[in-house]
Amino acid sequence: MIAEVIVDIAHSEVDRVFDYNFKNGEVRLGDRVEVPFGKMKTEGFVIRVKSESSLSPEKIKGIIRVLDEFPVLSEETLSIAKYIKDEYHVPFAAALRLFIPAELRGGRVKDKVVSYAVLKDGISPFEMVASLRKGSTAQANLIGYLKDEKKVLTSVIGEKFGYQTLKKLEERGFIEVVREKAGRVPYREMLSFSKTVSLSDEQISAIKGIENTDKTVSLLFGVTGSGKTEVYLRIINDVLKKRKTAIMLVPEIALTPQMLKQLRARFGDSVSILHSGLSVGEKYDEWIRLKTGEAKIAIGARSAIFAPLSDLGLIIIDEEHDGSYDAESSPRYKTIDIAKKRAELSKCKIILGSATPSIDTFDRALSGEYYLAEMKNRINGKHLPEFDIVDMRKEIKRGNNGIFSADLRENIAEVLKNGNQAIIFFNRRGYSRQVICRECGYVAKCENCDISLNYHKDGNVLKCHYCGATYKMIKACPECGSVNLSYDGAGTQKIVDEIKKLFPTARILRMDNDTTSTKEGHFKILKEFSDKKADILVGTQMVAKGHDFPSVTLVGILDADMSLYFSDYRSNERTYQLITQVAGRCGRADKKGIVVLQTYNPDNPTIKFSVSYDFKGFFEREKAVRKFTGFPPYALILRIMIESKDDEKALSALKEVYMKEKELFDKNREKFLFFNKMKSPVKRLNGKFRYQVLMRLHGDYRELKNAVYSAALSEKNKDVLIYVEENPSNLF
Ligand code: ADP
Ligand code: ZN
Ligand code: ZN
Repeated sequence: MIAEVIVDIAHSEVDRVFDYNFKNGEVRLGDRVEVPFGKMKTEGFVIRVKSESSLSPEKIKGIIRVLDEFPVLSEETLSIAKYIKDEYHVPFAAALRLFIPAELRGGRVKDKVVSYAVLKDGISPFEMVASLRKGSTAQANLIGYLKDEKKVLTSVIGEKFGYQTLKKLEERGFIEVVREKAGRVPYREMLSFSKTVSLSDEQISAIKGIENTDKTVSLLFGVTGSGKTEVYLRIINDVLKKRKTAIMLVPEIALTPQMLKQLRARFGDSVSILHSGLSVGEKYDEWIRLKTGEAKIAIGARSAIFAPLSDLGLIIIDEEHDGSYDAESSPRYKTIDIAKKRAELSKCKIILGSATPSIDTFDRALSGEYYLAEMKNRINGKHLPEFDIVDMRKEIKRGNNGIFSADLRENIAEVLKNGNQAIIFFNRRGYSRQVICRECGYVAKCENCDISLNYHKDGNVLKCHYCGATYKMIKACPECGSVNLSYDGAGTQKIVDEIKKLFPTARILRMDNDTTSTKEGHFKILKEFSDKKADILVGTQMVAKGHDFPSVTLVGILDADMSLYFSDYRSNERTYQLITQVAGRCGRADKKGIVVLQTYNPDNPTIKFSVSYDFKGFFEREKAVRKFTGFPPYALILRIMIESKDDEKALSALKEVYMKEKELFDKNREKFLFFNKMKSPVKRLNGKFRYQVLMRLHGDYRELKNAVYSAALSEKNKDVLIYVEENPSNLF
């Protein structure tokens, strides 16, 4: 028998199929095998089994051994991996690796073994007890206990009856200790009782609509607090009843303990949690539980889309607008693409859920490509919180140069007085330093692109990250002449210090990248806040995620404009989403909520649409802007990145790549909206020099796109890294 093998070396030079023969026993499609490769041994994956090879027999080497008891890849996984390889132009091995826990490769996991005690066959428990010496009550009790329980962990017996007792009975030949592989089920403690709720009318019609539509993808467009989770749970339940399985994706698992709790409460151990914080062994065990069908629901962040489930009946992508669904390192896949491929192969449905869908998704829902299920109201007639918009320019005129407006201070005082809770949201992102005039709200923008410029200390210049244009740093505002320019915001710690000064007794929690670096960081902070051990939670984007804290009555948005000026074509979209999502954290239970939104641009259309919860209005305007300026979904942005520790090598690779791409550009000018080569906005990162060729395509660009990839990736130099990004959200 001949096996076609992909060796587990993700390098373009060995990215092809190798034939191996197998003489002893059987080799199956999807098996992981050990094979000789050159002078060494390596692992590989069997992607096809055939009876003959076109190579002459003496050239074919033999498989050394099959590595696992079962094939790790299925036919479905192989097709998806093939799709990823073609779509994102990566080596087959790199695509296959996505489907297998890294722990399995290279044999790094050791099975965890636990021991159980059972009564020996052949002698009845009655006879055992009768043969004991008088007064051996503990031994007699243990025999009785095992007679009822059959098989009990030795650790449990040790606690209840003492290890001595167990040992004596083992020596007598009455008890046998068996050792078995254990499943490590993480977050078991999260099991709690689930309350049953009766569905709202909107939930009922959403469920019916989604279950009955013949469209593959449904968008569940429901305002914050409309009860989307309950809709997911009911549909999952129906899927399980049909003996099918489900994948549920969330942006970041550490930020969604409530979702986990509810899934666990409803479905117990058939839920498997795939979480980067799990130990090596735990990850592996969860994967096995899914693979063997013991677990039927996989919940996790983006990579859970590769969960090894068969009979897939449903894929849910919660908060589908979230940026974390785009992979940032190779293979740079978009989760929705993989979901669609899986859905096509297993004929299952996809639900995208959000209160603030992405422009692209909503566009498809309106056009009829996706089914649209809407939930316009919060559960139990609760209202969405009202906004109090504070014009920070006026605060400055009044002599308040601080971070907090008078309104926000008053509202915080009120919250503290009434024993409620507040969330203070502060938006900050690396590599973004926009120049904003603190007197009039003017923002420095690129003349070509209408995208805000970034301040670069290096050279004291302003740069556009989309076209590379460079401008001299301004000394004063060109609109009003003020020198009160902001281009370097405060950090979260500074905000916490400020609140402490204003409210010395307030108990404050801070949540940002610095405070959540440990494994349990997010859980701990969220739990403390939810247990009301703090009054105020200060944080970055993390506080805007789907949390459900009943006591939160105030949300403060410190600098609503900040994200408007990220050098990102999606900055309006991101701003709308952030404002709506963070506002959605308050007033969710009995108490009314208020959102104090501080801005230098109260008239900005995005801010106006978000404070009136007018998503459709926002959507229409944003679509028009994108069409006019030639950005997605009306164009495709491609960025070819060229990085090297050696500046000269990077530059010469850039020249080569540019020449090849320029040929494509010259032949297809009508399909290009933009084409240029330049230094990357951040010229040097992690010791590497960075260059890029940036382009925007429109029209029917499918083939052209593949040609762009091929031209870029054909340039090979082991000291230079070249990769292509599609619609990157961060052009640093
Ligand atoms: P969303 O994800 O849409 O923001 P959630 O799913 O978090 O909203 O639901 C908001 C709150 O409403 C949660 O506390 C949830 O337990 C509760 N809830 C959901 N559906 C119902 C219902 N039918 N009856 C009562 N409470 C509900
Ligand atoms: Zn000004
Ligand atoms: Zn520009």
